Amino acid sequence: MHDQAETVNILNAIANAQSPQEYQELNWEGSLEDYLKLVQDTPRVTRNAFQRIYDMILSHGMDEYSEHKKRITRYRFFRDDKYNGRDAVYGIDQSLNHLVDIFKSASRNYGTERRVILLHGPVGSAKSTIVRLLKKGLEEYSHTPAGAMYTYAWTNIANDLEKEVYALVNDELPCPMREEPLHLIPPAQRAKLVEELMRNISDKSYQIQVEGDLCPACRQMYRELTRRYKGDWFKVMDHIKVRRLVLSEKDRNGIGTFQPKDEKNQDSTELTGDINYRKIAIYGSDSDARAFNFDGEFNVANRGIIEFIEVLKLEVAFLYDLLGASQEHKIKPKKFPQTDIDEVIIGHTNEPEYRKLQNNEFMEALRDRTVKIDIPYITKLSDEIKVYEKDYNAQRIRGKHIAPHTIAMAAMWAVLTRLEIPKKANLTLLQKLKLYDGKTLAGYTEDSVKELQKEASREGMDGISPRYIQDKISNALVNEQFAGCVNPFMVLNELESGLRHHSLIKSDEQRKGFRELLAVVKHEYEDMVKNEVQRAISADEEAISRLCSNYIDNVKAYTQKERVKNKYTGQDEEPDERLMRSIEEKIDIPESRKDDFRREIMNYIGALAIEGKSFNYRTNERLYKALELKLFEDRKDSIKLTSLVSNVVDKETQEKIDVVKSRLMKGYGYCDVCATDVLNYVASIFARGDAKE
Ligand SMILES: [Zn+2]
Ligand SMILES: [Zn+2]
Repeated sequence: MHDQAETVNILNAIANAQSPQEYQELNWEGSLEDYLKLVQDTPRVTRNAFQRIYDMILSHGMDEYSEHKKRITRYRFFRDDKYNGRDAVYGIDQSLNHLVDIFKSASRNYGTERRVILLHGPVGSAKSTIVRLLKKGLEEYSHTPAGAMYTYAWTNIANDLEKEVYALVNDELPCPMREEPLHLIPPAQRAKLVEELMRNISDKSYQIQVEGDLCPACRQMYRELTRRYKGDWFKVMDHIKVRRLVLSEKDRNGIGTFQPKDEKNQDSTELTGDINYRKIAIYGSDSDARAFNFDGEFNVANRGIIEFIEVLKLEVAFLYDLLGASQEHKIKPKKFPQTDIDEVIIGHTNEPEYRKLQNNEFMEALRDRTVKIDIPYITKLSDEIKVYEKDYNAQRIRGKHIAPHTIAMAAMWAVLTRLEIPKKANLTLLQKLKLYDGKTLAGYTEDSVKELQKEASREGMDGISPRYIQDKISNALVNEQFAGCVNPFMVLNELESGLRHHSLIKSDEQRKGFRELLAVVKHEYEDMVKNEVQRAISADEEAISRLCSNYIDNVKAYTQKERVKNKYTGQDEEPDERLMRSIEEKIDIPESRKDDFRREIMNYIGALAIEGKSFNYRTNERLYKALELKLFEDRKDSIKLTSLVSNVVDKETQEKIDVVKSRLMKGYGYCDVCATDVLNYVASIFARGDAKE
């Protein structure tokens, strides 16, 4: 009974999602006159493909943020929120903004509408994801009232004899190119019509423009009907039925994809359509437009977007089709004159392919007719992590727990392989990664981070692709050898063993470099979990916060040569040198550097104050670490962690360990299994440390 009610509910939900009103809107039909009224009400229905794609992106909204002192726009469209971020693109907002700017200028006819847009980047960067988003976005936009667009069909066209002979049931010819109905207005009359329409339009922000002429099929129909009605245009137009146009890649409506096959098998009909030999028998001539299939990819993509996968693998002979399509907005179907098109042309190419072809004739011709947009890998760790968290989160991964930091460590390695070695000798690659990720480091300001980015011009165009990381995480997840949770070591080992056969690694030297970076990551992980366990032992943000403000008060007094008020006694006292040093020593600040360190901290706090922000010790990684270590030191004797390794744990210690374990589970994402593992692991590190001493 209950089940049945639930089923009905589900069906109701489906029915509600398919609203009859939407159905009616999407199936709108009217005469050309009705359409002109519609244009007058909403002139934007006549937008061209570039204007539409630009408005589509804007319709999703945008945010602004600042990074390393630059103001950056983030277009929400690329977050794919509607699909829970399935195709979300992270960490390359500047490239995306470049792309949106191209659409913007193209939508205003500034010239970029006559270029092939070329997304260029390393294997596995977000190139095809971006194009997929654009295609999906255009499809959906065409369903909305804001994205409504129209085309038409010729109806009731056969004469009586034809109807009898061919037994025509469906006596109509939809425009095979889905063209804009305003094309039906004879070119000589258009300016006057547009002027007339614009005069009655209150919103002058959009100027109607009619680009292009009838396609060969419509031209033929127009000619024949004009003859039939002895030049009476109104009678010809009686045959026109304007319809709402909904873009759909699956239905081959306004969204096209072209992937070059091997070089010998390329045929231009795949791009511009082909003669239908069966129909020549009916219509008697191969130049009868009705005997032609306008189903080349350029035809299919008209009014929307065409994607060229690996565009540089295109035959040179096709170059002219491509260049004509982009520069002139025209294609040349076999046996027919040039035909106007209205579509965004976007291609992508991998970095190795691009480099290979840099000097050939194809590229020469293409170079100044394309706008190249670099789509690099992500170089900001937190953005790279988001990519994997999309796929490997608790909702998607069932029956296997992924231990904390597993994804982050894989992401860290990936980013490290992409960074250029800093020219400053005293800055490690890992430090650079952290600076990029928004962490602070003594001696480095936002300006110097900007400098670092500038000196590394090819950064993100090389290194390990997210796909490799995804494959190896998946391997670790399904590996039956490991009981328990997937931890960073398992994934890092997978990453390492795959390097041997990695096809995109250019040299043994590069392979060696990548291996060394794995060691860097392992070491960083060791540090992190050590820290985490220490924190779980001292687990007291309040105590750290107290210790921090105590430290800052003292440093402030010290740098300004003042005294500190003892909160307990109310007395003014000298700054507590012993306290300050006991913290600073934890992160190896020598006596000789202490003044600099303290001044930097005060400057940092001062700079934040100017921006109206307050200081949070969590944003200063070094200080945070120092504070934690100090607190740990103050407390560590209360728990004998190393006794874990010795297997003899007394009841009191076991109780304390259980407390730490539950803290790890509550606050740090561990489960019972990996919490035990990590405690054992850290205990072994400490034991090793003790043994050394
Ligand atoms: Zn047409
Ligand atoms: Zn676990």
